[in-house]
Amino acid sequence: MIEKLNKIKEEALDEITKCMDEASINNARSKYLGKKSEFTQVMSEMGSLSNDEKKEVGKVSNEVREAINNALDNKLKEIKLEELNKRLEKDKIDITLPSNKRVPGTKHPLTIVREEIEDLFISMGYDVVDGPEVDSDENCFEKLNLPRSHPARDAQDSFYITDDMLLRPHTSSMQVRYMTSMEEKHPFKMICPGKTYRRDDDDATHSHEFSQVEGLVVGENISLSDLKGTLETLARRLFGRDREIRFRASYFPFTEPSYEVDVSCFNCGQKGCGICKGTGWIEILGCGMVHPNVLENCGFDHTKYQGFAFGVGIERVASLKYGVTNMRDYFTNDYRFLHNFNRKEM
Ligand SMILES: [Zn+2]
Repeated sequence: MIEKLNKIKEEALDEITKCMDEASINNARSKYLGKKSEFTQVMSEMGSLSNDEKKEVGKVSNEVREAINNALDNKLKEIKLEELNKRLEKDKIDITLPSNKRVPGTKHPLTIVREEIEDLFISMGYDVVDGPEVDSDENCFEKLNLPRSHPARDAQDSFYITDDMLLRPHTSSMQVRYMTSMEEKHPFKMICPGKTYRRDDDDATHSHEFSQVEGLVVGENISLSDLKGTLETLARRLFGRDREIRFRASYFPFTEPSYEVDVSCFNCGQKGCGICKGTGWIEILGCGMVHPNVLENCGFDHTKYQGFAFGVGIERVASLKYGVTNMRDYFTNDYRFLHNFNRKEM
């Protein structure tokens, strides 16, 4: 009988080592220790033994049962651990993959320059005026001393929506709106920044879409020296406190006299370089004293009031400040380009 029990143990332990899953463990348990197993059969035969024999067989049978049970339990643990490891391997998260990090945006270089100009003029008591990008021919041209037949329109008349409405070619249309909407005419200082549109062949230095800041001051006893002082302040704010400016005679229909303004080169100290094309001076804006016809067209008595006006291209200033050589970079929304600018670095 003892021999039988040891044989059962041997067979069982051998089979258990071959078990691959939980179901085969359960099968083995019932096969070797269950009600219908050989082990149970042997146990049922114990009644015919003497007391001493019973004692001995009982001891061996307990050992066999314990050995089989232990082997089953250990193998089951082993199988479960293996299953867990397989599942972990399958569901593995690759923590070396880069996350979807969000980089905070930065201000557009044109916005940085526009705000810098706005800040300066607000500090000098100017209103900042905004208005529609589609405006009437009357506001864009006629009231600015540019009647329909005027040859100077050629450079500017561009994107007409109807015969009388167009994308504004300059922000001067806002100056007209500002002056004509004033019920009681009185002295004022204002700037109007914004987008403007003109027919142009787009290339590295030209665009059909660009931005301006125009300024207009109207009052009594306003003279050219007021204009000069204002523009000197602007040039020094934008390009450094040691800058000088010079006026060159020019022509605009809405100012008389009219000037182009150059700033002394900030790059070479006026020795001559690529930026100033060897001249020591860089052209930055146009300006002049407001034409009496413009004042009259907008309801101001030109015998009482004078004024000055100026217009500066924001792309031009930004390109000079940041060394941008391709104007199209401002409009193509390339993340790599836009992340070169940070207000703090100015
Ligand atoms: Zn230079």
